[in-house]
Amino acid sequence: ARKFFVGGNWKCNGTTEEVKKIVTTLNEAEVPSHDVVEVVVSPPFVFIPPVKDLLRPDFQVAAQNCWVRKGGAFTGEVSAEMLVNLSVPWVILGHSERRSLLNESNEFVGDKVAYALSQGLKVIACIGETLEQRESGSTMAVVAAQTKAIAEKVTNWTNVVLAYEPVWAIGTGKVATPAQAQEVHLELRKWLHDNVCAEVAASTRIIYGGSVNGANCKELAAKPDVDGFLVGGASLKPEFIDIIKSAT
Ligand code: 13P
Repeated sequence: ARKFFVGGNWKCNGTTEEVKKIVTTLNEAEVPSHDVVEVVVSPPFVFIPPVKDLLRPDFQVAAQNCWVRKGGAFTGEVSAEMLVNLSVPWVILGHSERRSLLNESNEFVGDKVAYALSQGLKVIACIGETLEQRESGSTMAVVAAQTKAIAEKVTNWTNVVLAYEPVWAIGTGKVATPAQAQEVHLELRKWLHDNVCAEVAASTRIIYGGSVNGANCKELAAKPDVDGFLVGGASLKPEFIDIIKSAT
């Protein structure tokens, strides 16, 4: 019942020409229908308008971040209201690169998720442990704390997708094994069951991110609690289409 979800996080990459090329490739691709897979691409802010103009209508666009509250005197920030004004339906929040490089705390991410939802955006909320945390056996404690900070501020989970992205797997070529991903996704679902409710646990999509590519996506997608992917590097390449196809 959970529709497969494939997100492409372009991060801080691309030129006007490259963006056009990626979108053309996506537009020409034959992929399963929108009833089967939800596809969302996330360009840097400046490329959102041209991508929105060019992109096929069955694919959607996400921003990679937005400001934590209402816009105003916050130089360099982009507000949730602006994204809504531009008809951008989705936003990625709490990505590990922002948590680590820009010191976004669990609480700050929770505030961002709640505010973005309150403005009508749909949110891809990212969580995940570092290698050190995994090796010390605290994976579940870390992702539970990250999820709790969101759950404390969110009452309606309909528009939330939870992205489990182990930091050690991001951009490293070291993908989680299907068993590792399934284990954490199942634990997260149990956490939602026990701490939010059974309905939210059953219906919320939990997607995996970290070195997903055209070759490893099928096996991951076969796991019962892996409801899709958030793809970085491979989302800039034609193999993103193979990842979309892993929905079926
Ligand atoms: P990679 O697919 O490049 O490892 O990045 C994953 C990611 O961070 C998606 O948000």
